[in-house]
Amino acid sequence: MQCGAYIGRFAPSPTGVLHFGSAAAAIASWLDARAHQGQWLVRMEDLDPPREVPGAATAILAALERMGLVSDAPVMFQSRRSQAYVEALEVLRSDERVFDCSCSRRSLSGHVVYPGTCRQSRRMDTRHAVRFLAGLGELAWLDAVAGPQQFDRAAIGDFIVHRSDGLWAYQLAVVVDDIAQGITHVVRGVDLLDSTPRQRMLFEALSVEPPQYAHLPVAENPIGQKLSKQTLAASIERADPIELWREVLSFLGQVPPEGRTLASLQTSAVRNWNMDKVPPKSAVRNAWMD
Ligand SMILES: [Zn+2]
Repeated sequence: MQCGAYIGRFAPSPTGVLHFGSAAAAIASWLDARAHQGQWLVRMEDLDPPREVPGAATAILAALERMGLVSDAPVMFQSRRSQAYVEALEVLRSDERVFDCSCSRRSLSGHVVYPGTCRQSRRMDTRHAVRFLAGLGELAWLDAVAGPQQFDRAAIGDFIVHRSDGLWAYQLAVVVDDIAQGITHVVRGVDLLDSTPRQRMLFEALSVEPPQYAHLPVAENPIGQKLSKQTLAASIERADPIELWREVLSFLGQVPPEGRTLASLQTSAVRNWNMDKVPPKSAVRNAWMD
């Protein structure tokens, strides 16, 4: 381990309140960064204005601060990063790693994987999406929590990096920003594990070593639904921060922290942090449901 070389991040999208799962991802990513004497950065993934809730970004940052989590650098907002995404797309285009796609949603219905319809087409003047050429072969890596991962490029298929409505696709924006921020470690929920092979393909195409990944278990309610902003609106924003930290550490399989103040509890949690104890599977949580 190189001390000081670690840069981690927490990257919420401002589409609602912070819930238990995202609080766990925030705490785990912060703990892993601190345990490696690294930096912890916050990035607001506000790429999709129609889905955003006014005030959510401010509320999320305030909730993090109450939990004792403050970004080590100014918060990055993806909505202000278009120029960087344009430049990355130009690199991919000049390397012939992307192509324009004018397929309608209807013409693709019934296809789980993009059938390659537009791969040979020339650049179009009409409204179109831009897709990344996934190519053939396997992608394999070791996830620090979820274990060995293996994905078939053909089964993933050519995926969109720029949408026909002009919005940037999540996959491209995340990779460009991870590169810009020098992110070395990504700790996030297992619901994003399916995005990881796409992101690794983009790192590879942009000639940058991908970060190390750790995908945390997803918090579930007793009937097995993944907790999300849709199924669980229970805000942790009003929760007692010390109690929340204790719940999260228990969920993450860590030893109970010592300390009566938030600061002392955080110090204890950093000292005892052990990624190997994080359970790879979903765990049942219900205390934060209203
Ligand atoms: Zn197409």
